[in-house]
Amino acid sequence: MARIVMKFGGTSVADLDRIRNVAARVKREVAAGNEVAVVVSAMAGVTNQLVAWCQALSPLHDAREYDAVVATGEQVTAGLLAIALQDIGVEARSWQGWQIPVATDDAHGKARIERIDGEELVRRMGIGQVAVVTGFQGIGPDRRITTLGRGGSDTSAVALAAALGADRCDIYTDVDGVYTTDPRVVAKARKLAKIAYEEMLELASVGAKVLQTRSVELAMKQRVRVQVLSSFEDVPGTLMVDEDEIVEKQLVTGIAYARDEAKITMRRVPDRPGVAAAIFGPLAAEGINVDMIVQNIGADGTTDLTFTVGKADLARAHAALDAGRAQIGYAEYTTDANVAKISVVGVGMRSHAGVANTMFRTLAEKSINIQVISTSEIKVSVLVAADYTELAVRALHTAYGLDAA
Ligand code: ADP
Ligand code: ASP
Ligand code: MG
Repeated sequence: MARIVMKFGGTSVADLDRIRNVAARVKREVAAGNEVAVVVSAMAGVTNQLVAWCQALSPLHDAREYDAVVATGEQVTAGLLAIALQDIGVEARSWQGWQIPVATDDAHGKARIERIDGEELVRRMGIGQVAVVTGFQGIGPDRRITTLGRGGSDTSAVALAAALGADRCDIYTDVDGVYTTDPRVVAKARKLAKIAYEEMLELASVGAKVLQTRSVELAMKQRVRVQVLSSFEDVPGTLMVDEDEIVEKQLVTGIAYARDEAKITMRRVPDRPGVAAAIFGPLAAEGINVDMIVQNIGADGTTDLTFTVGKADLARAHAALDAGRAQIGYAEYTTDANVAKISVVGVGMRSHAGVANTMFRTLAEKSINIQVISTSEIKVSVLVAADYTELAVRALHTAYGLDAA
């Protein structure tokens, strides 16, 4: 007997037939004698619709009301799955974040889980009741509903697995594992039987949305055994493991892309101490994450500065920069949302040079212009025009020898 958390993403609960399919999978685990908690996402497309409605009414909407709206999708699927389970003779009940409770901080729209009280769930699982838990949501110190950022149900699942002391956390999705790159973009992508926590963390943080970054961070810290599996097929998935459990180390393990950033270029910024702080301080105060940054040195005492922010934060970034104009003293700024960030990731980079060079050469051969570059110990990222995303990912996948035979 094991205690397990099963998480099902939006495509896996997209309609009633799929919810029945999920119920059947849950029943199998229960029948095998396991204690089961299930975490569900909203039906595919629902969260996007809810976000779009908030945006349409007001781009600078109140984040607490945004959470009140977007958290509803998960409430529907949790209730429906509990009904589907009861219908096939499995005892189940739905749980919303506030009922457990899943306590988060007060960062509405991108809250972090601080504590989960798993006691009552454990007690009920012990008497054979399946807990069907809404992913993506919690309750803040202001006693209002919070959400965990897009893709946050993965994090709900891993955090719940840690809180319940679960033996494993199985993430069921619409692909059958973690691949060398998005299998929907590169047909020759290869499924990885295992991936190191750190590589998965880096891949997720640069755009491989198969797992939310925070979920990987938590799994690594709390030693949760996470597997990524298909909701639709019974085939082995991908297991996250420690680096030393991977025998054949590749130089590059995976390639990811992200189209959710926008580039901001500030021109003729005074080249003096304190200017970066004057620009990035107010952005940080607004909770806006700045990702890639480059600065060009001008000859006339001014400089141009380029950086990226999430597209979802663009309106607020504009407001912060406009408000800070006198203090910063720039001539103008332009924004370009038509960009994509392409990243190559691999722990092998720690000990081998030349990874970045292969990237630059490959992109040059395809005449793809690099706008911004950033690196970390196990990653190289470049910003390119969005139209080249697929071409760049495919060319790099081949260049690093990742194509399936
Ligand atoms: P869910 O709704 O189940 O959470 P997501 O859409 O959030 O599913 O994540 C699964 C998707 O992640 C896949 O459909 C795939 O297109 C995408 N993806 C991106 N990079 C990868 C990768 N390296 N391996 C597998 N899937 C990836
Ligand atoms: N429904 C939420 C989203 O679409 C959370 C999730 O699916 O993980 O972002
Ligand atoms: Mg997801």
